[in-house]
Amino acid sequence: MTTTASPPGQPGLQPVIRTSIAGASVADLARTHGTPLYVYDAEMIRRRCRDLAAWDTVRFAQKACSNLAVLALMRGEGVMVDAVSTGEIHRALAAGYAPHAAPGVGGDGLPPVHPIVYTADIFDRESLDAVAKLGIHVNCGSADMIEQLAERVPGAGITLRVNPGFGHGHSQKTNTGGEGSKHGIWHEEIPDVLRRAEWAGLAVTGLHMHIGSGADLAHLAEVAGALERVALEIGRSLTTISAGGGLPVPYKPGEVHADLSGYFTLWDAVRKRLEERFGHRLRLEIEPGRYLTAESGFVITEVRAVKKQGGRKYLLVDAGFNTLARPVLYGSYHPMSLCPADPRATAAATEDVAVGGPLCESGDIFTQTDGGFVATRALPTAAVGDLLVIEIAGAYGFVMASNYNSKPLPAEVLVDGGVARLVRRRQTPEDLVRGETV
Ligand SMILES: *Cc1c(COP(=O)(O)O)cnc(C)c1O
Repeated sequence: MTTTASPPGQPGLQPVIRTSIAGASVADLARTHGTPLYVYDAEMIRRRCRDLAAWDTVRFAQKACSNLAVLALMRGEGVMVDAVSTGEIHRALAAGYAPHAAPGVGGDGLPPVHPIVYTADIFDRESLDAVAKLGIHVNCGSADMIEQLAERVPGAGITLRVNPGFGHGHSQKTNTGGEGSKHGIWHEEIPDVLRRAEWAGLAVTGLHMHIGSGADLAHLAEVAGALERVALEIGRSLTTISAGGGLPVPYKPGEVHADLSGYFTLWDAVRKRLEERFGHRLRLEIEPGRYLTAESGFVITEVRAVKKQGGRKYLLVDAGFNTLARPVLYGSYHPMSLCPADPRATAAATEDVAVGGPLCESGDIFTQTDGGFVATRALPTAAVGDLLVIEIAGAYGFVMASNYNSKPLPAEVLVDGGVARLVRRRQTPEDLVRGETV
């Protein structure tokens, strides 16, 4: 699989001065909403949705960025949604998604689309109650889910999530296939699982694989062949196949966007061969999370201390791994830029600095590599009061934020047409102790 130059709209990957996000002033955003602050560029999300227009269904894996305003924006783009928990089902409904497909066949001759799919390896008791009550379609990642669902929803159609026996991710922790992964139904178990579904009276209408997050497309493409083989084992009951998610985005200088049209062509060919074999149309889905929102998101932080520890200089900002966890979890690289308090400042002088946060934890470093080693970044010379913008933070950003060290969750703002709208207020001290008793 080849790669192509970045489509328009890719944020700068070099150390820069940044004074605006999608036409809104960084300084104004910080003044109005405080820091740390998550900011999303609505137009970037729309652009990424439209990149995938060739697919019959784009299903957003909302765990990447589940703010209601983002979900509503996706819905406006005709994007469907995935839910991995009762909470995510609740979010999808609150954003205006219908719980289940309208009856009948769509005008395009394709089988009806499920607006929400519950995808998980288990039902907890709450989620089983929710899918049964609301009639939400289920993608089963464990065979035990089949009998559990059949007891509550006799005759339901289901999707099977199959682990093809291999996987890839940007990190071992985001690899979701192979023996080292708990996800999905093991590919060799399929004949047995089909018997269990038949015995339980459920029809297998969907087939899904998802081998990892942020892998390269050459690896993702291996899924297509594996899915085709399993689809033939399942047979004519299938109406929908899903390529899963995992589409990578460029985070580091020199990384580029993947060749999405080549990827679609490969999947479309699998779909067409299966349609020919089954004698009916198949809906082809893709299920990205990261791809749709990563580049839209920014964290605005304020530099609160600049200090030297021996030979190394540190910028300490008011965001920590409570705000953005990817660096500490995966050693992930995020581009950073500076919005100096002094509007005359330039990027003429840069220096290598380590960037850390406020937490009482030595791992609270944004410039770390996999394994937790503190690295440095070339940034324009910074002073206390400058704003530091952490970029490409719209996927697995806010959703992984925590209250560690009793820090409030930051506010989230959506910028559309140059206008910034608060879409989640910053938590208050009262929020932090809500539900607790002495
Ligand atoms: C997380 C997840 C995705 C999305 O992964 P990305 O790498 O963000 O595209 C898709 N499908 C399932 C089942 C997931 O768990």
